[in-house]
Amino acid sequence: MPRVNISVKLDGVLETDVKRWRAICSIGLAFAIPCESLYGEWFSDSQPIMGTNIHVEFWHEDPAAARDALAAVIDEMHRIDELMSPFRESSELSAINRGAGAGPVAVSAELLALLERSAEVSRMTDGAFDITYASAGRFYDYRKGVRPDEAQLTAAVQAIDYRYVQIDREAGTVRFAHPEVYVDLGGIAKGHAVDRGIELLRARGIDQAMIAAGGDSRIIGDRRGQPWTVGVQDPRKSGTMAVLLPLEDTAVSTSGDYERFFERDGVRYHHIIDPSTGDSAREVRSVTILGPEATLTDALSTSVFVLGVRAGLTLIDSLDGIDAIIIDGDGRLHYSRDLLQVEP
Ligand code: AMP
Ligand code: MG
Repeated sequence: MPRVNISVKLDGVLETDVKRWRAICSIGLAFAIPCESLYGEWFSDSQPIMGTNIHVEFWHEDPAAARDALAAVIDEMHRIDELMSPFRESSELSAINRGAGAGPVAVSAELLALLERSAEVSRMTDGAFDITYASAGRFYDYRKGVRPDEAQLTAAVQAIDYRYVQIDREAGTVRFAHPEVYVDLGGIAKGHAVDRGIELLRARGIDQAMIAAGGDSRIIGDRRGQPWTVGVQDPRKSGTMAVLLPLEDTAVSTSGDYERFFERDGVRYHHIIDPSTGDSAREVRSVTILGPEATLTDALSTSVFVLGVRAGLTLIDSLDGIDAIIIDGDGRLHYSRDLLQVEP
C-alpha cells in the first residue's frame, strides 16, 4: 500500500535530524549558546492508566514547561479513569450502573456528553456500537476464562439496546428504561482521554505531539518535517507489524481480537461483543480506523469490528475523512476506498 512502504526509514531520518541539531548546538555550547531553547527536544512519559499503557510524546523548547505539560496530561488521564472506570466503585459510571435502572441519576456534563456521543455512534452503526453490550459483557472474565452460560446470556441480551439509555440533557441525568441494563465506555473512553490530552497540549502551544492510550492514538503536526509512524499489529504474531502507517495530524485506533481473550474448545472469546448475540464478534481479527479525532476512531474501530468487512467498509466509505484497514478472519487486508486511491 502506498502509505505503507516509505514509513520504515522515518525514525532514521528523524534521528539524523536531531543529531544534526545536537552537533550544531555542541559547537554552540563552546560559545555559551542556550541550545535547549535553540532547538528544543522530545519529551515523553508512559504510565499504566485506564487498564492500558498511556504514552505521551512531544517536541518542546522549554524543559520545565514540558515536564509540566507531561504531568498535566497524565493527571487528566487519571481524572478520566476515576470518572469513567467500570471497576471503580467511586466512579460516576458505577453510580449510573447502580442507580439508573431504578430512576434518574445526576451525572457530570462531560460524562453526559460522552453518553450522547456513544448514542450517536450507535445510531450511525445501526447498533453495532452499543455501550449496553455490558449487560452481557459483564459476565465475561477474559483473564479467568469465564463466560456466561446459555440461560444467563439469553436473559442478559434482553437488556442490550442503546435506546434503553435515556439522557435528559436539561436535568443533567440519565436513567435506564430496563432494570438489568449495565453500561461500559471501554469502546470510547480511551479515545476521549486521548482527545482531552491533545487539547491540553494544544492549549500550551504544543503542535508536534502524539498521545497513545493502548490502541488509540492521536497525532498533531509531524515529526520535525517527517510523518509519525504508527504500526498495525499482526493479529496472530505478537510484536510483528502487519502495516506501517506514516501519519500526520490524525487519530488512529485499532481494535483486535488478540487484546483480551481466552480460547475454549477452539473458539476465541474476546472483548468485542456483538450486541445482537452477547457473544464475541468473530468475522474479523482487527480493525484500524483513521480520522480527525480519537473519540470517533475509537468508537468506530469497535463498531466496524462488529460489522465485519462488507458492512464495515460500506459505513466507512460513506463517512467523509474516515478510513479503515481491516484484517479479516483469514489474515487478508481490506482497505476503505480512499486509502486505495492514495497515489503510490
Ligand atoms: P476497543 O479495543 O476500542 O475496540 O474497545 C473494546 C472495548 O469496548 C471492550 O473492552 C468493551 O469495554 C467495549 N465494547 C465491546 N463490545 C462493544 C460494543 N459492541 N459496543 C461498544 N463497546 C463495546
Ligand atoms: Mg475502539
